[in-house]
Amino acid sequence: MKYIDEFQDPELAARLLDDIRASVTRPWALMEVCGGQTHSIIRHGIDQLLPDEVELIHGPGCPVCVTPLEVIDKALAIASRPEVVFCSFGDMLRVPGTGRDLFQVRGEGGDVRVVYSPLDALRIAEENPDREVVFFGIGFETTAPPNAMTVHQARRRGIRNFSLLVSHVRVPPAIEAIMQSPDCRVQGFLAAGHVCSVMGTQEYPELAERFRVPIVVTGFEPLDILEGVRRTVRQLERGEHRVDNAYPRAVPAEGNPAARAVLDDVFEVADRAWRGIGVIPDSGWRLSERYRDYDAEHRFRVEDIATLEPAECRSGEVLQGLLKPHECEAFGTACTPRTPLGATMVSSEGACAAYYLYRRLDLPARPAGASRPVPVAAPAAGAPADVTGAHRKDGSVV
Ligand code: SF4
Repeated sequence: MKYIDEFQDPELAARLLDDIRASVTRPWALMEVCGGQTHSIIRHGIDQLLPDEVELIHGPGCPVCVTPLEVIDKALAIASRPEVVFCSFGDMLRVPGTGRDLFQVRGEGGDVRVVYSPLDALRIAEENPDREVVFFGIGFETTAPPNAMTVHQARRRGIRNFSLLVSHVRVPPAIEAIMQSPDCRVQGFLAAGHVCSVMGTQEYPELAERFRVPIVVTGFEPLDILEGVRRTVRQLERGEHRVDNAYPRAVPAEGNPAARAVLDDVFEVADRAWRGIGVIPDSGWRLSERYRDYDAEHRFRVEDIATLEPAECRSGEVLQGLLKPHECEAFGTACTPRTPLGATMVSSEGACAAYYLYRRLDLPARPAGASRPVPVAAPAAGAPADVTGAHRKDGSVV
């Protein structure tokens, strides 16, 4: 398939790996920001093909995972109301709130519907003027523009029975919070290519300069990720800290001006809570004053719902790159995709789900006091760099 196959070429992957191995002289810890990148890395075994010196830390870039529990509880409260049609993308329905999830609300008679676009929810509102239709608007700079456009359309077309439950977050403040953490081990970032295709790259040079950290805009296919790693390692080895765009086929420096314009029109920057991390200043959006009537939290008076995160789930540490999923005591035992304790095991982009899905069940845990996961054996010299399936570092297929 065009634009897929050529970015999964094993021979090119082997060359990129050779280049990385030849340039690395000491340990480096890189964070891939996006959950989609995490899944690609784990699925193709990229982390296990890299030299031991290069560690990939999984960042907080899964939209479902970072949505705080209290927002899930607000969704449950709204979806339980008899006058409401609650619309959401499918992956939010299994995310556990306090005691239940949206599937259970549906089982109890709530009108919870899976849609494939926020515009589907707007159409349902138009067709059902006697119902209140709510769309669950979560995610990063990638999902925020279509949600903003839907609210813009609702206002322009005078559709009053539509509202948005908003939990949108922004990547740059999260990078800032990670770098300011006293436990931070990250030395370079693979920035999320799709986010930059919307927002451009102009938010990153200041961060790269202030924290003296390379930020390389990276795509999602195996060769994209290896090229992002290669460029980040090269900068680190040279003592550089620049923004570099390794995904130019999708990311113009200015991003998507039309998408940014609709974001500026409908949303305003606000503090946001991130699951397991807490409130990060200016790290999200809320509806601006002009569109406040379309705010479901306000319309259904759920602003005051506040929930503590469950202590047994360590997804906050996973999302900050302080813990690998298999190092959580509940991973694969009390917590599985069928019995998830946290969103990182539910979401299709969650790091815990990726480790479970691609059978990372037998990795050794980090000993107490160790700063990074236990290295496993390096691939045998000359072992094929097969990036089409997950591999262990001993070269065996997972
Ligand atoms: S394995 Fe389960 S309990 Fe542990 S951090 Fe991941 S989602 Fe939470």
